[in-house]
Amino acid sequence: MTDVVESFNCAQCGAPLKIREGEAVAVCEYCGSLNSLRADKTYIIKHSWMPNKLTKDEALRKAGEWMRGGMLMPPGLDEKAVTGASLAYVPLWVFDAKARTDYSGVFLRGGGKEGKRVQGSEEKEFYWKVLGRRQSSFPVKEYKVPLSQKVPFSLEDLMRGEMLNSELDVEEAKAAAAQEIEGYMRGVLSEKVDRFDSLEVKIDFGEPELVHVPVWFMEFGYKGGSYRLVMEGSDGGVLSGEIPPSDFLGGEMRLVIAIAAALVLVAACAFIALNLLR
Ligand SMILES: [Zn+2]
Repeated sequence: MTDVVESFNCAQCGAPLKIREGEAVAVCEYCGSLNSLRADKTYIIKHSWMPNKLTKDEALRKAGEWMRGGMLMPPGLDEKAVTGASLAYVPLWVFDAKARTDYSGVFLRGGGKEGKRVQGSEEKEFYWKVLGRRQSSFPVKEYKVPLSQKVPFSLEDLMRGEMLNSELDVEEAKAAAAQEIEGYMRGVLSEKVDRFDSLEVKIDFGEPELVHVPVWFMEFGYKGGSYRLVMEGSDGGVLSGEIPPSDFLGGEMRLVIAIAAALVLVAACAFIALNLLR
């Protein structure tokens, strides 16, 4: 369903772009270029993607492995519990960012009552990721972009699966990245500063790039409840998964407890034996 909300033309080839409401980027159906839509102009964004490598059966099998391998998972769960699995390509904005942080403040720990005044500046480089969707269960922080799998996007790739368009435009993504980097630097500097008087982070962003990453979104059922599992489609790694609450401990947890109990018993026997031998 395509609602043309405003008329935009591709910055590369001039063809009209089809834009759905709420979206901030659009792939040109004629030349495949990714256009960022801002106010009254469009511009081309570097675009790449990672092909999905798992068939649905393989993704389900990996989900089963994850369920059986989890220490806290209720025993008996496997891929048969999966009630839904769908593949989507999720948009991630990625930036090379150079951040210079100037700060001043007070270090209170170990510096008498008044503390010690501190100031300085730090330079750091980042490869920062911002999710292009406003509502998604995709855990962007935990996700390590497998850069070796990244390939340039071409027009035919539109046919490979559902490519979710970014709802954040590049400026919004940069603003989000800047805010997150500032929070990160504040955390790093809290080793040296207990109370900030000033903190200024200047960020130099490199060329923005939008990367579509393959993600399997799954649901599985357990005792009437429904739980979510998010799996990376290029290597089958589980990015996040909900663990159903269980009224008894999972299989491996019982094994761990049994081994711990056995070790305690062995130690107790050794202790008694040593005492008897004295
Ligand atoms: Zn075009």
